[in-house]
Amino acid sequence: MGEKEIAGVRIQCMQGDISSQDDMDAVVNAANAELMPGGGVAGAIHRTAGPGLAEECIPLAPIKSGEAVITGAHRLPNRYVIHCLGPVYGIDRPEEQLLASCYRNALKRAEEHGVTSVAFPAISTGAFGYPLEEAARIALHTIAEEAPALRTVKIIRFVLFSARDYDVHEEILAQLVPEGRM
Ligand code: ADP
Repeated sequence: MGEKEIAGVRIQCMQGDISSQDDMDAVVNAANAELMPGGGVAGAIHRTAGPGLAEECIPLAPIKSGEAVITGAHRLPNRYVIHCLGPVYGIDRPEEQLLASCYRNALKRAEEHGVTSVAFPAISTGAFGYPLEEAARIALHTIAEEAPALRTVKIIRFVLFSARDYDVHEEILAQLVPEGRM
């Protein structure tokens, strides 16, 4: 696992499954607009959480690209799920801003609920087609920029499914400077 501390916030990268992060207060779902079960991250999260999660999501949907909403975690080993809708690459524009908004809004929802640790997947890099390295850069730099303003969140973890995805995130994390500049 790679780790770096920025402004008192521990930023971590690890290879694993977002639906089995039992030491995290909240996990982030790479959701669809309807907040319903699907493939990839949303499939894994809803499968583990059970049908109560989809039920709780009904009145909160639909959400727009860049937005984030928070629910309980049901049978997941966490307190909350934060559902983000990432941009579909090449369709939702400007994609950089929309992807950065996902991370900012997810952290906003986390702070509103006193969340102390939050695990993110690589939003938009699966079915939504965002090139992994570009997405990783935006994700990590946005989090580094937000870190000084965080009050309750002390640990932010990227959970990457494949070894290659992990390597890319780990390398960008290692190069991050405290100000979060590129
Ligand atoms: P999006 O629709 O936002 O692209 P996906 O769920 O299709 O979201 O994929 C986002 C990323 O999460 C991809 O890199 C995918 O490989 C990865 N992924 C898929 N399942 C899991 C999981 N269970 N835990 C962590 N990452 C996952």
